[in-house]
Amino acid sequence: MSIFEQLSSYDHEQVVFCRDESVGLKAIIAVHNTTLGPALGGTRMLDYPSEADAVRDVLRLSRGMTYKAAVAGLDLGGGKAVIIGDPTTKTEQMFRSFGRFIGTLGGRYITAEDMNTTVEDMGNIRRETRWVTGSEAAHGGSGDPSPVTAWGVFHGIRACLEVTYGSPDVSGRTVVIQGVGNVGYWLAKYLHEAGAKLSYADVSSRRLTRVVDAFGGKVLEGDEFYRAEADVLAPCAIGGIINTRTIPMLRAPIIAGGANNQLDDERRDGEALTQRNISYAPDYVINAGGLINVYSELKSYGREKAMQDAANIFDTVKRVINKAKVEGSTTAMAANRVAEERLAAVQRLKRVWVPS
Ligand code: NAD
Repeated sequence: MSIFEQLSSYDHEQVVFCRDESVGLKAIIAVHNTTLGPALGGTRMLDYPSEADAVRDVLRLSRGMTYKAAVAGLDLGGGKAVIIGDPTTKTEQMFRSFGRFIGTLGGRYITAEDMNTTVEDMGNIRRETRWVTGSEAAHGGSGDPSPVTAWGVFHGIRACLEVTYGSPDVSGRTVVIQGVGNVGYWLAKYLHEAGAKLSYADVSSRRLTRVVDAFGGKVLEGDEFYRAEADVLAPCAIGGIINTRTIPMLRAPIIAGGANNQLDDERRDGEALTQRNISYAPDYVINAGGLINVYSELKSYGREKAMQDAANIFDTVKRVINKAKVEGSTTAMAANRVAEERLAAVQRLKRVWVPS
């Protein structure tokens, strides 16, 4: 497929190829859709096997950001950037040069941290352009997004409990968390404080000890996470874990966690969960707290407002699950439609010209 055919199949507005041989920079910025606002999404740095892989990745990820911001009700569009190269070769000059390319877009694209990019890299971008988020809290940035992400996940879990059991009350409910890193640890804290009974799975014994010492609960081994007779499974580690191997093991009626790309195949695995009457809170809906946190940085709102906004994920998750029921679709498909309907509605109202 040619690049323009790919742009048309993903429905992109603009893709910018950036090259600065003097600093070894090869980057691609994809602006997917700016109907709702400037395209925001992180920059990842990877030694892609081929340029075609980099193009595919940036197109796929930037479209995902449009949907995530739209469902979360934010005034942001979707974008993403990739720097092609080995992350161990990065330099100040490379990120400053990249910052200047971002600057040429005049705010149509705003960047943030992503895979293999750091607060320091964002700092170097900031030396050249203001269209960057994710600097340290000490420098006016929004700081670690994990507590906000976990707060949104906590409220998404409450929404699933309400749909399944008629009450959002977490007290006495059993929740198993896979991955007790940044997000999983904070989620355990909120759930513990609300009276949930917790179990954890992680490949890191250090992380497991930390969470058990802080909040009590049991440690699960191997596939026990999938087989757990719990009210909620909360995947907060890695993607692809809901798949043809694990779905037959599931006994919990709810899957609601912070990890990205939980379904190995969105359509196939989403349909299998629907058939088994398992409520799945789509990952990009329930883990939008990180994006909400960055948005609060752009608006200079502060952490308290970010937490309040993340709590609204309760309503969004409920709306998506109920829409899926009414339309007889998977929750992932219902979430996509919520995004598309908001985009179309805002697009329509922009037909009216207003003086600027
Ligand atoms: P993290 O690296 O701090 O924590 C991940 C944890 O998962 C670690 O403790 C790790 O040991 C564990 N883990 C890794 N592989 C595992 C496996 N196979 N089985 C069990 N445990 C395993 O990462 P994080 O920031 O907490 O993010 C967790 C997930 O949430 C990721 O998918 C991330 O993309 C997503 N997410 C995070 C944020 C955020 O604000 N940090 C926002 C949105 C989405």
